[in-house]
Amino acid sequence: MTGNPLLHPWTTPFEVPPFPLIQPDHFAPAFAQGMAEHRAEIAAIGADPAPPDFANTIEAMQRSGRLLARVGAAFSNLVVSLGGPALEAVDREMSPVLAQHWAAVALDPALFRRVSALHDAAPADLAPDQRRLLERTHLGMVRSGAALDEAGRARMAAMSERLAVLHTGFGQNVLHDEKAWHLPLTEADLDGLPSFVRDGARQAAQERGLDGYAITLSRSLIEPFLTFSARRDLRQAAYEAWIARGTHPGAHDNRALIPEILALRQERARLLGYSDFAAYRLADTMAGSPAAAEGLLAEVWEPAKRKAAAERDRLLDAARGDGFNGALAPWDWRYYAERVRRADYAIDEEALKPYFPFAGIQQAAFDTAGRLFGLAFTRQPDVPVYHPDVEAYEVRDAGGHVGVFLSDPYARADKRSGAWMSSYRDQEAMGGPGDRPAPPIIVNNNNFAGGEPALLSFTDAETLFHEFGHALHGLLSRVRYPGQSGTSVRRDFVEFPSQVYEHWLSVPDTLRRYARHHETGEPIPDALIGKLLAARGWNQGFGTVEYTSAALLDMALHQHPDPAGLDVEAFEREFLAGIGMPAEIGIRHRPAHFQHLFAGGGYAAGYYSYMWSEVLDADGFEAFEEAGNPFDPATAARLRVVLAAGDTEDPMALYAGFRGRPPSTAALLRGRELAA
Ligand SMILES: [Zn+2]
Repeated sequence: MTGNPLLHPWTTPFEVPPFPLIQPDHFAPAFAQGMAEHRAEIAAIGADPAPPDFANTIEAMQRSGRLLARVGAAFSNLVVSLGGPALEAVDREMSPVLAQHWAAVALDPALFRRVSALHDAAPADLAPDQRRLLERTHLGMVRSGAALDEAGRARMAAMSERLAVLHTGFGQNVLHDEKAWHLPLTEADLDGLPSFVRDGARQAAQERGLDGYAITLSRSLIEPFLTFSARRDLRQAAYEAWIARGTHPGAHDNRALIPEILALRQERARLLGYSDFAAYRLADTMAGSPAAAEGLLAEVWEPAKRKAAAERDRLLDAARGDGFNGALAPWDWRYYAERVRRADYAIDEEALKPYFPFAGIQQAAFDTAGRLFGLAFTRQPDVPVYHPDVEAYEVRDAGGHVGVFLSDPYARADKRSGAWMSSYRDQEAMGGPGDRPAPPIIVNNNNFAGGEPALLSFTDAETLFHEFGHALHGLLSRVRYPGQSGTSVRRDFVEFPSQVYEHWLSVPDTLRRYARHHETGEPIPDALIGKLLAARGWNQGFGTVEYTSAALLDMALHQHPDPAGLDVEAFEREFLAGIGMPAEIGIRHRPAHFQHLFAGGGYAAGYYSYMWSEVLDADGFEAFEEAGNPFDPATAARLRVVLAAGDTEDPMALYAGFRGRPPSTAALLRGRELAA
């Protein structure tokens, strides 16, 4: 093949991107061609002399931009999974250009006239998925500003472009600070660290060309360090570096970007007739309003603080027993929480870890999908991948090929931190002339510490199941239109499939079968399973406070009346004092590295979504418990309907169809041991 592989049909197995052929400098010309084709298609729809109907307007829009979607998916995945200076430079160059392109499509006057006319005519002969697609296409354009006057539309486009630059800069600044810092350790500094943390620290040092050991700001390394290091001085140094990401004066200081991002979002919301960005954002969610989201957060906040206060008292007992007499600081919490877990529940992370090798837990996630939904995963070594860490699987069910699943499990210096699911190709089956059904290509990224073998913590294993639940949402999608595929649902519904899947890790049958000692193959002893499950309520006060404070701060930032002049750190301090944040617990994400909010707009005024979805997952998993079998086929079949539907139905109606009734918060409060 000669020329730019992004522009040719892909002849690889399952038509995955031909990764080994793709170079960073292929993207700019491919984007240019993709945008040009898309512009021409949109112009043709707008100029169609025939009166607007569903096929010549909405379906034509769904069919447009195929090349751009393909190139965009490859790029947006590679820039965060693979990273590196060349892709990051393309990102800085392309993000404002792409934002401008998408704004121009969403604001196109001729296109909007047709969509609007069709929407007002409300044709009676549409199928339910088509009716919803028309409704949501119209709403999406209105919410982008298509109904504004020309000056308003121009301002919306300019703001989109500027926000794209700021989001890209924000994410790159966090990555910069994560790469720039490490804590070198010698043998003398390893007090308390179990072998898996030492191994991870040795590997991190090697990757940086250092002797000895190093702690980095990767969550899979720093959290275990804070949990086990007996050296309070080193815990403090590591913790302070961790929470300082994005706050260093100079070229990578995110504190300078946040007020501008917030002010632009507020201006957009007001142009569209909303009081603030949170009101704008929440209007198109399952929750429906900031008050509904804040109501749920308020319902857990005070009980969570009470539970955390009881946990703190227990930690202080343990610390006193150690001869420590001061007040606990945030860098002490994880350390003493682990000590108490060992003392009160006779369980410790190091004893558990050998039973959670990555390969075994991933197999557990695969086989759970087999038992629930009849899926089978087969490793495909001939499918090209973009890094040796990545594993490719073909997914099949009784009906044949379902899709491709890529697994990218390990942390790398150039990879974005965190864990996420994404797609290289979304499922669709439009079935028009020239259309072929597109089976999905789904990827899960994690940042587990590597090793031979890689051993997960129980929390890591839950994260693997979480992202795999999102992957199933993409793989099991059975929709016609790409705009309704898989995870393209409301933000506060999208965490339901992922969070409900986490429950199957803790099913004793899963643990007995798959949590096997990596050296002996022995299954995890029943006594250890019992202890593990008994200890699950421990430290939930901490977890709930850490998360809920961040969700409340998100809502407050996006309702601030005058964000342009905001002193972000002063606001954070005063806000946390105002809600009574316990001094010994740090907020889960401080604003300057809160990538959910500022490295993109997806979770802005939307971090509450995890708790909102937890209402659904806690309540939803109880449907299996009520059926008396965590793999109950009839209940699994009803859940599969939710996963297949994508955005073809209202999420509350979908949930009620699965559960037989609307959700209740009771199961969430019981699960977090917050019930009165
Ligand atoms: Zn998720």
